[in-house]
Amino acid sequence: MSSQPRPPLHQKQNLQNNPFVLVLSRQSRVSPFPSPMKPLSKNIILAIIVVLVISAIFSSISLQGKKPQSISIATLAEEVEKGLVQSTKVEGSEVTIKLKDETDQKTRKDSSASLEEILTQYGLEADDIRAANIEIQDRSTRSYILGVILPSLLPLILLVGIFWFMLRQMQGANNRAMSFGMSGAKEIKDTKQKVTFKDVAGSKEAKVELEEVVEFLKNPKKFSDLGAKLPKGVLMMGRPGTGKTLMARAVAGEAGVPFFHMSGSEFVEMFVGVGASRVRDLFARAKKAAPCIIFVDEIDAVGRQRGTGLGGSHDEREQTLNQILVEMDGFETNIGVIVIAATNRPDVLDPALLRPGRFDRRVMLDLPDINERVEILELHAKGKPFATDVNLRRVAERTPGFSGADLMNILNEAAIRAARFDRKEITQEDTLDSIEKVLLGPERKSYVMNAEEKKVTAYHEAGHALVARMLPNADPVHKVSIIPRGSAGGYTLKLPSADVRLHKRSTFIDDMAVMLGGFVAEMDTFGDITTGPSDDLRKCTRLAREIVMRFGMSDALGPQVFGESQEMVFLGKEIHEQRNYSEKTAEAIDAEVRLLISRAMETARGIIQKEKKYLDAIANVLLEKETIEKEAFAAIFEA
Ligand code: ADP
Ligand code: ZN
Ligand code: MG
Repeated sequence: MSSQPRPPLHQKQNLQNNPFVLVLSRQSRVSPFPSPMKPLSKNIILAIIVVLVISAIFSSISLQGKKPQSISIATLAEEVEKGLVQSTKVEGSEVTIKLKDETDQKTRKDSSASLEEILTQYGLEADDIRAANIEIQDRSTRSYILGVILPSLLPLILLVGIFWFMLRQMQGANNRAMSFGMSGAKEIKDTKQKVTFKDVAGSKEAKVELEEVVEFLKNPKKFSDLGAKLPKGVLMMGRPGTGKTLMARAVAGEAGVPFFHMSGSEFVEMFVGVGASRVRDLFARAKKAAPCIIFVDEIDAVGRQRGTGLGGSHDEREQTLNQILVEMDGFETNIGVIVIAATNRPDVLDPALLRPGRFDRRVMLDLPDINERVEILELHAKGKPFATDVNLRRVAERTPGFSGADLMNILNEAAIRAARFDRKEITQEDTLDSIEKVLLGPERKSYVMNAEEKKVTAYHEAGHALVARMLPNADPVHKVSIIPRGSAGGYTLKLPSADVRLHKRSTFIDDMAVMLGGFVAEMDTFGDITTGPSDDLRKCTRLAREIVMRFGMSDALGPQVFGESQEMVFLGKEIHEQRNYSEKTAEAIDAEVRLLISRAMETARGIIQKEKKYLDAIANVLLEKETIEKEAFAAIFEA
């Protein structure tokens, strides 16, 4: 129970909260390599077209001109004698004749004798023969190439061509393999849409801390002259969406220096050793560009504790991490390269990363408190047309535990909702509806409950709301609804009146009674129970166990914590729990948990029986109007 958003009551297995379902449905897997089949088949088509074109050219060459008329050598001799011949070409045994009247003729001769000799044998005079302009051409020239060599070479050329295409294909992938060692970090030198501290709302402490880094980047000499050693690394910690990436860019923007952005997972590729060489390359590039910022986002991808075997003890990861450490030790502090790393899992980081001289500066980005939420909302509301009734503070009040990214998302959802209703302005209703949508999933208008289900749900929610109203330490009710949303059949939205970071035992005890309020109301009103409260019961049981085991708040077992849990303090999530208590203690814990639950049940029952008229009143309003807002809810008790 840290400062997470209070889970709304009565949710039956909320898929919206299930990260796996969300991820699965979102991710459309894209292979990093282009599928080789598609371009290749394209190339084959191309090759076929080339072949067709070539053969077309060939046939047109051989068809060129009119076909010469075939004659005998005797006819040729006659023509020469008569002086009809303009010119004669001899190519091997082929003879082409052009007559003075432009007629083309051809004939063949014995290749062992020259045309002159043959014509002399026909009794022609040397003068006549000269007039025939005999020209002897080498057989091995153009026609030979075109006619003999090329056709036989063509398949070979084609094959080579296809191989070449294929090779080029492979090379596409290969080139990438060869450049694997390059860091591929995106260098952002943006001057146009520069991000500055103004674009980051709230996070005042973090800004103060980073202000110093900006100073240093702007004027490294000032510090080094005084012999001051400045931090090489700044580790930015915070839950997802609290603006770590944004803040790092703002630092670069404020200092006006280049910014090398690289994600931890980008270091790790298929081949061993690539990560390390990428780190080397990244630092080499950065040193050239100094002063500058190297930003390693999601550093936990490479910076996990070495040798734990957690997350698969990955040699590659260790080598990459080692290289980062080596590089960070290797450069002089005064050259002006600052490494900013971001993570939402500082607890899994290797201690070597955190020792002085490396990421010794730690900046924590907390979830925004109510005033910061207002600031963030105002920042993101710029450029969105809001109706005059919109009160962003009201939105901020309803969103404890939301991160900056969540808040941005809410305003975006609100804008989408307004557009869907063809409105020109975003109304307060749009913003409030999108909060519930983000928390619970979209309204399920098509889901029609039958009269009985509706009545049971109304009494169930009325039970939660009534108990919450009557108990002094429970959070105030903001909304009760029996409109199904996501996987919840109905819900009671109760929110802390202020952001709390410390939770009191009395609050927990009252919360348990509120959680059981739905169950008791159903039981007492209808004499039967449904599966509806199952999620409430699960949450209540878990809270009871945490009170006893994790917070040491039980009277019987005293201030002692049970179970060594490898706990992600930061995320409030446990990966695994080790039992470090005896069987007898286990029994005592079970008994204590049972006692807490039964006491909570009595509290809830007492209220519901005593204030039956209010229970009926709330349920009736719900059946009639389906939702009750904060003010209307308070009015029921004043009547
Ligand atoms: P992280 O890296 O911590 O997961 P990002 O920096 O990517 O989070 O934040 C996501 C988006 O949420 C940002 O682009 C920004 O629009 C919004 N955001 C988060 N925190 C803030 C903040 N403090 N002020 C303004 N916007 C914020
Ligand atoms: Zn419930
Ligand atoms: Mg980020």
